[in-house]
Amino acid sequence: MTKCSNCNNNAIITTEKAFCKEHFVKYFEDKVISTITKFKLVSSNDKIIVASSGGKDSTTVLYILKKYFGKVEALAIDEGIPRYRSKTLEDLEKFCKRESIPLKIYSYKKEFDFSLNEALKIKKDLSPCYMCGVLRRYLLNTKARNFTKIATGHNLDDEAQSIMMNLVKSQIPLLARLGPITDTAEDKNFVPRIKPLYFCTEKEVATYAFVNNFATRFTQCPHSHDSFRAFVRDALNDYEIEHKGAKKNLVNNFLKLLPKMKSNQKDLHLNHCSNCGEPSSKELCKACSLVNSIANA
Ligand code: SF4
Ligand SMILES: [Zn+2]
Ligand SMILES: [Zn+2]
Repeated sequence: MTKCSNCNNNAIITTEKAFCKEHFVKYFEDKVISTITKFKLVSSNDKIIVASSGGKDSTTVLYILKKYFGKVEALAIDEGIPRYRSKTLEDLEKFCKRESIPLKIYSYKKEFDFSLNEALKIKKDLSPCYMCGVLRRYLLNTKARNFTKIATGHNLDDEAQSIMMNLVKSQIPLLARLGPITDTAEDKNFVPRIKPLYFCTEKEVATYAFVNNFATRFTQCPHSHDSFRAFVRDALNDYEIEHKGAKKNLVNNFLKLLPKMKSNQKDLHLNHCSNCGEPSSKELCKACSLVNSIANA
């Protein structure tokens, strides 16, 4: 049995070192707090809302922000994906009740008049994840306007995937919006996003959620296998097997290039959607265009 490198008790996980439960929790929380401090993710007068799904990542963010900063709220989106989202939202409701965290849930059906599944039947040419992402970002931004930051559960694996996806698809403006804090769009309508789990691997977050008894299930969205992200995730996992530390190196080297990318993007003028007022590079934002095209189909 592998022993903890700090105390010689039995290790429950080996990441950078082997850790017992107690030392792993300390290592993990120290890493999150040092990310928050180093990148100035949170200031004392911030009002933070966590984009929550009921999964291990966003539940971990909720738990740690509540533990260290005392006050946090949760916002969840119900896309209307049968046999998936209702289960994760059930877990989230229980968790928020247990931790006395205020929770608000907004559904596509109520906000747009169609669920994701209904929209997919109308827009057969669009990928589920594209539609889901556009509408989710729109709801997050519009419903979180009374908050100063939106915290998300993105971990190191997610970030490595996003970097690779945007590089492969030549989406440099989107690449410049990655990093532990998204503040590229200096716009009063844009609520900055923060990623406290930026340097935590998927395996570390799963272990933290497990040792803290977060009742998160290992259910996956039925559409997750079809996405480009799933392809990139599998490729990076293969890469990591052959080249240990590949994802961490990818993210750390990306961070060295990020300031230059951000300053290049600052010159781009951001307009507003003529329909909803959300930041947009075109006359209509992607969400309004999508909702219109579904309504007129
Ligand atoms: S996998 Fe795609 S469709 Fe499913 S919740 Fe994520 S973005 Fe939405
Ligand atoms: Zn130990
Ligand atoms: Zn709009």
